[in-house]
Amino acid sequence: MGETREQLEFDVLFVGGGPANLAGAIYLMNMAQQAGKEIEVCLIEKAESIGSHSLSGAILDPVALKELMPDYLDKGCPIEQAECRDEFYYLTPGGKLRVLYTPSYMHNSGCHIISLSKYCLWLGELAEALGVMVFPGFAGTEVLYDADGKRIIGVRTGDKGLDKDGNKRPNYEPGVDLMAKVTVFGEGPKGSLIREVGKKLGIFEGKMPQIFETAIKEVIEVPDSNSFPSPDTTVVHSFGYPLGLNTKGGGFVYKMKGNRVALGFVVGLDYEAPLFEPYQAFLSFKKHPLIAGIIQGGKVLQQGAKTLPAGGFYTMPRLAVDGAVFVGDSAATLNIQRLKGVHTAMKSGMLAAETIISALEQGDFSSATLGEYEQKVADSWINTELYAARNFSQALSQKGIAKFVTIGAQYLSGGRGFSDPMPIEDDSTTLTKLQNASAAPAESPQTQDLDGKLYLDKLTGLYLSGTSHEENQPCHLVIPDKNLCMTECYETYRSPCTRFCPAQVYELEEDAAGSKRLKLNPSNCLHCKTCEIKDPYNNIVWTCPEGGGGPKYSIV
Ligand SMILES: Cc1cc2nc3c(=O)[nH]c(=O)nc-3n(C[C@H](O)[C@H](O)[C@H](O)COP(=O)(O)OP(=O)(O)OC[C@H]3O[C@@H](n4cnc5c(N)ncnc54)[C@H](O)[C@@H]3O)c2cc1C
Repeated sequence: MGETREQLEFDVLFVGGGPANLAGAIYLMNMAQQAGKEIEVCLIEKAESIGSHSLSGAILDPVALKELMPDYLDKGCPIEQAECRDEFYYLTPGGKLRVLYTPSYMHNSGCHIISLSKYCLWLGELAEALGVMVFPGFAGTEVLYDADGKRIIGVRTGDKGLDKDGNKRPNYEPGVDLMAKVTVFGEGPKGSLIREVGKKLGIFEGKMPQIFETAIKEVIEVPDSNSFPSPDTTVVHSFGYPLGLNTKGGGFVYKMKGNRVALGFVVGLDYEAPLFEPYQAFLSFKKHPLIAGIIQGGKVLQQGAKTLPAGGFYTMPRLAVDGAVFVGDSAATLNIQRLKGVHTAMKSGMLAAETIISALEQGDFSSATLGEYEQKVADSWINTELYAARNFSQALSQKGIAKFVTIGAQYLSGGRGFSDPMPIEDDSTTLTKLQNASAAPAESPQTQDLDGKLYLDKLTGLYLSGTSHEENQPCHLVIPDKNLCMTECYETYRSPCTRFCPAQVYELEEDAAGSKRLKLNPSNCLHCKTCEIKDPYNNIVWTCPEGGGGPKYSIV
């Protein structure tokens, strides 16, 4: 017999406490108040507190924030730097070339530098003050459907207090069924619930594959005497070293308040070399003379990692089904050309909220009524931005000089370029097989000098992310075919999960007889989901661990 679970009923349920859903919830409450309507709204977030799984650059284009809250400065919006002044570099192994002409989409004038974790915490407090029931520490683990299996009627939260074999511990608490007229999925990149909705309701059918980049980021305290290349610069972006021109990605350093900088390195997950390790590239970037000069003598305060959706326009799923809508990174609204997704995520949440208010008035939550959200997105500046960038990620994936020619052609033709749409390859298919498998190392050698203060190994970085999980719980990383790991995957790619994971979740172990096995450390997981995206056999399924586990970001 199935377990009896508590059921709570709401008008609207937001799943995920990122900028998309927080802006959506605030906008919804404002509209309801203006119309004199009382509505029951709930928001769940898997992190221990709102903002503690939020990691981003982050340069905030305040366009959506101004629409949401013109008086955001008076309301105490936490801003690190009010104005952005950019410099853009091409890096060679020991040198740099300043790029003097940059396309308009790369200009950040009028934008603010923020910490996304602080920003989300602030938005969460505003949402709560407006009456949203905000529940951090609750992960949505199952989508609930009506009897026909076609209409979404809510989400079940994860059970707490199960041991690693699935038995109930003394502190067991069953998950709760959160029922809603409309569920808004804002799970960020590679959402684990939207994946299941995709399988059941086909929202990704006919779209290009979802593709991603992965990023490692730190906040570093630097000596007062350190400075950016030019004294009034607050934003440095780079490409080239250490990736060269055949792998997509680049680095950034942003000035924060006081003597802190945000530093990050982003790698396209369509990279090809199986022995490549994003974390090593991140360290090499930090050691480049331009970057090392900015951070020398510094100390890392916090580190983390997260993926971002890079596909944009042609990869966006259907945005509404019966009983639900999809917003923000979950719906691929990030503009990769600008490396910005906070403003588009917020706007998508707000457009969803407008649609929901009208659906509540009509008492109709069908895909026909909620589908008006899709039209609103199409008529908004989100569409204008994403359409102009519709082939950009594909252009970045070109090799060598072809990259610049393609980007240039797109720039001059409003995003069209030489062919439109340019095809997109699924990230899990791009690794090349090892040419000489017997010569390839079992584990990547440590190639960097580390000092435990400014240059950290993965485990020290992990410690500085504050990550913790209940150890005695079912493993949230499901590997359907364990046999594949030490046979085909090891032989063909040398277990790339041990390299692309930034948190040493996957390790190779050898027993006394010399036979190898893959050891999992799920407690290390930073929830970046790189493993599910990049695994060449699609043999890793990321599910939500017990709510409240994971990183504890506060300043990234
Ligand atoms: C390194 C990096 C640099 C970036 N730089 C910039 C920048 O400079 N400017 C910019 O505008 N954008 C930037 N972005 C992108 C930006 O951070 C995202 O586009 C934006 O945060 C998307 O907001 P969202 O609400 O859709 O998703 P998210 O911010 O990812 O929020 C989703 C939330 O949902 C929660 N969640 C997920 N699944 C569940 C579940 N099943 N149950 C409960 N909770 C769940 C997550 O814990 C998370 O808190 C950057 C991203 C990265 C990774």
